[in-house]
Amino acid sequence: MAKKKIENVRELIFYSYANLAMAHSAVERNQEKYGTFNYVIRAKLFKGLKDGTMNIRTIFDDEKIKIQTGKICNYCGSSDKLALDHIFPQKYGGLDAAENLIFACRTRNSSKGKKDLMEWMLFKGEFLPLMIVRRYLKLTFNYCKEYHLLDKKIDELELLELPFKIHLIPTSFPNPKSLILSISENIKK
Ligand SMILES: [Zn+2]
Repeated sequence: MAKKKIENVRELIFYSYANLAMAHSAVERNQEKYGTFNYVIRAKLFKGLKDGTMNIRTIFDDEKIKIQTGKICNYCGSSDKLALDHIFPQKYGGLDAAENLIFACRTRNSSKGKKDLMEWMLFKGEFLPLMIVRRYLKLTFNYCKEYHLLDKKIDELELLELPFKIHLIPTSFPNPKSLILSISENIKK
């Protein structure tokens, strides 16, 4: 759909972020499928981000969720053999900073291995909790902003060694029924 019109990195990230907000709004309301209300959220946010009247929020909210989630694997909820998982691999410049770290159990950690987070998600064939996808998107946006990549064409980035995979940034999200916001909310249900 709108994907055809997307040419640069900035718009791709904005479009993904708007889709994520759409998915979030549907999951939050326990919807079976997407409706007009959700599509309006996506359209308004995408437009607002593009014309600069809206912004991608900081990682603050996600950090709050992380603290509330506590010491459990952020992928599956297990509290067994936890380690800190780097969202952006250190090998590609991922930082040892809170924004780049979440708890993961050994099973998830070794299943992910050296894979990019989105690559791993595709490999597993199941969508990650939205809070993790959002964190990945925000990290990608911040990185691109810092290194002046936002106005580049998407294809230009494919030649660079980066801590994320631009062509794997999700621009469509599955049915809300198959999504969760965070693993702790899932446990509470
Ligand atoms: Zn786990």
